[in-house]
Amino acid sequence: MPRTLNPATRDALVERLRFYRDLGLTDFYRRPVDLALLAELTQTLDAQEVAPVIPEEHNVVSAPITSEVPVAETNLFGEEPVIHPHKGFTAPPPVAANVISPADRPAELLKIVEEIGDCTRCALHTGRHKIVFGDGSPTARLLFVGEGPGADEDAQGLPFVGRAGQLLNNMIAAMGLKREEVYICNVVKCRPPGNRTPEPVEANTCLPFLFRQIDVVRPQVIVALGATAATYLLGQRQPLAGLRGRIHVVRGTSLIVTYHPAYLLRDPRQKKEAWADLQIAMKELGLKAPKRS
Ligand code: SF4
Repeated sequence: MPRTLNPATRDALVERLRFYRDLGLTDFYRRPVDLALLAELTQTLDAQEVAPVIPEEHNVVSAPITSEVPVAETNLFGEEPVIHPHKGFTAPPPVAANVISPADRPAELLKIVEEIGDCTRCALHTGRHKIVFGDGSPTARLLFVGEGPGADEDAQGLPFVGRAGQLLNNMIAAMGLKREEVYICNVVKCRPPGNRTPEPVEANTCLPFLFRQIDVVRPQVIVALGATAATYLLGQRQPLAGLRGRIHVVRGTSLIVTYHPAYLLRDPRQKKEAWADLQIAMKELGLKAPKRS
């Protein structure tokens, strides 16, 4: 019989299991302490990891990157109205087929902010203090996508401002860029309670706003920070290990997958691997790492 666990311990163990699964560490399963408990936790995790529901037109664009920025052939949500499984979501108006001029991008981003408003489209609104829309240059060549705001971000209304944000700043500097030269945003714009992973219904509800941000900024390279960002950008769940080290294409833009800075804080040994991922992004951008003084 599985042990009886209090909800907090159970949630922590499920998160740990997710952590190993996202890293592709299946070896974890070979030395269980309590097989029945492991089976129960795995069942819970499987139930939580329902495949994300992402309209096809939001997903991978198979056309190779060219020197010209690809132009969407249809509006952001396709010709048909969005069929969204969750009540309360109002589909944003279609974006123009043409690339938005750099001068117009700040205003276009503001339009998205206005449309989000005091959003109550998903359950995450109940615990948030501030909506964390995004931060950085509307004309950035490099765009980072994380999972969702944490406590510091929720308090300040800005993405990646806590310890993980400091590490991300260092990663950006190591690439020879300044934070204000890139754009940073998340899959969900409100903090999940206890920093848990967003539920599929929450992520899918918020996701169209992220895609609109990407379409306005039109970066040359997107870096997905962690498995959640990669899952919802690519529209498929795979262990992080299987997604790293190669270039994906999403919405006409090269996508590189790497570890979330919060994970790197927990396991600094993986920083070397993350740096290898960032170097792929740098190559795409034609950047060279600055020389250390
Ligand atoms: Fe709205 Fe996104 Fe916040 Fe949910 S997470 S309430 S969809 S802004």
